[in-house]
Amino acid sequence: MFEGGIPIGRVFGIHLRLHYSWFIVFGLITWALAASYFPTEYPYWNRATYWGIGLATSLLFFLSVLVHELAHSVVAQRAGIPIKSITLFIFGGVSQMTKEPGQPAVEFRMALAGPLTSLVIGGIFWGIWAGVRGYSEPLAGLAFWLGWINLVLAGFNLIPGFPLDGGRVLRSILWWRRGDLRSATRTASTAGRVIGYLFIFGGVWWIFTGYWINGLWIAFIGWFLENAAVGSYRQVAIQDILKGHRAWEVMTKDCPIVQPGVTIDQLIHDHILDSGRRCFPVVENSRLVGLITIHDIKKVPPESRAVKTVSEVMTPFEKLKWISPGDDLSDVLNTLTMENVNQLPVIADGNIIGMVARDNLLSFIRIRGELGA
Ligand SMILES: [Zn+2]
Repeated sequence: MFEGGIPIGRVFGIHLRLHYSWFIVFGLITWALAASYFPTEYPYWNRATYWGIGLATSLLFFLSVLVHELAHSVVAQRAGIPIKSITLFIFGGVSQMTKEPGQPAVEFRMALAGPLTSLVIGGIFWGIWAGVRGYSEPLAGLAFWLGWINLVLAGFNLIPGFPLDGGRVLRSILWWRRGDLRSATRTASTAGRVIGYLFIFGGVWWIFTGYWINGLWIAFIGWFLENAAVGSYRQVAIQDILKGHRAWEVMTKDCPIVQPGVTIDQLIHDHILDSGRRCFPVVENSRLVGLITIHDIKKVPPESRAVKTVSEVMTPFEKLKWISPGDDLSDVLNTLTMENVNQLPVIADGNIIGMVARDNLLSFIRIRGELGA
């Protein structure tokens, strides 16, 4: 959902990004601090101080959110779960995990690390506030607000609705007690949906009582939470259906093979138009040398399709992601998602023996979902 964004650097091998929606909330918070909160609380500063302190407070707030996310990521990485990226967006931060934690204890520690870090950061800012309040009111004002907002951040994230941190803590406890991840996720995400609806109703109630900006914001957060709870449960249910099944069970075996020297025009007319297939292994001397898809072909302008050959357009073998027939389908889905591709060749002893496409997985999931098997 929040894949895009502007890269801002790398920490512990994790890519940090700012989603476009982040700029909206950054602007709003800076404005609310500089034009409303600080002038109300501290009426004797000058205009430049309001905006300077407002901007600095806002930046330190987002730095706090980033440290909260990094705390989750560091615990995850220590447990052997690589984190690909952290994206800051309108509601905070989101870490992109390459896989879900395998044991309840790992999830428990990972989930708790964020809110605990926010509590510590909040404590540090209040310590700074206590230290500087006799000397500089603007610095004290900045530290006080940051202390308070980090406690709010910790408190909000500890709400026990999946996929919030508190919901993950709840899930890990249920998972540990029941020994069943899917059932634990179902309960924790139901809690997440209930909390989402409470936020929506609370927000709408606020809107009708006149606090429409706060109300709208709360309702929006509730809507986001409800959606995330539904989506996260679906994801776990899908992984649960796929787990224990192997790539060879769903792969397409009769892959039409093409030669590297064939032109794109020939490929389109001889293979694609009548077969309806979207992806072709390229084989030379019975070795797989690459893969060509409709996606690759679309990049070739129609006027050069008569001269361009398959080998010039295909993804060569060295750059190709592939899987083995015995790979677990839940890992296959992760690879498809992480590599952002629609299909993966299945290779055994250097030979292509089939293809697994997203469609294969989808129909596998749909049939088993319908039958409840
Ligand atoms: Zn968190």
